[in-house]
Amino acid sequence: MRLFRSSEILGIAEDALQFALAASEDAHPHEYMGFLRGEDARSLGLERDGTVITDVLVIPGTESNSVSATVKTSQIPNDFNSVGSVHSHPNGVLKPSKEDLATFGRGKVHIIIGYPYEREDWQAFDRNGDPTELDVLDVSLPEGESFFDFTQADIDAELDYDFDDEADP
Ligand SMILES: [Zn+2]
Repeated sequence: MRLFRSSEILGIAEDALQFALAASEDAHPHEYMGFLRGEDARSLGLERDGTVITDVLVIPGTESNSVSATVKTSQIPNDFNSVGSVHSHPNGVLKPSKEDLATFGRGKVHIIIGYPYEREDWQAFDRNGDPTELDVLDVSLPEGESFFDFTQADIDAELDYDFDDEADP
């Protein structure tokens, strides 16, 4: 029985995947990390129930070096409509690290992108770190919205969260 059928992840929009691949390449040799946000499939014109990943959002405060990218958990908004995460492995290994597994419990799907960041150099994982299928969908995203130009003000307005809220589970 699926009480929350509509929250099923149907796939990732081609544009969002391309953005994440390009961002990972830009960050090389450092890790890139972002969060995945979804839209209701029907709002994108699909005749299916579920969620399509349409946005890749970089959280301010990400500390990145060649070894790992970490996010201060207090900077992950509690009410953020995040369906998962995406980050890159500059060493090209498409497997979650021990540190990755520790964070995968949050969110439904986690994407690892590996060097050399070509179209097939990525793998999706479930919250247990097991490889999972993620369809790439050719959907047209709502006009007037661009995830390429997020500013801090945009993010604040979008998320409406409070950095001082320490009620993290
Ligand atoms: Zn990793």
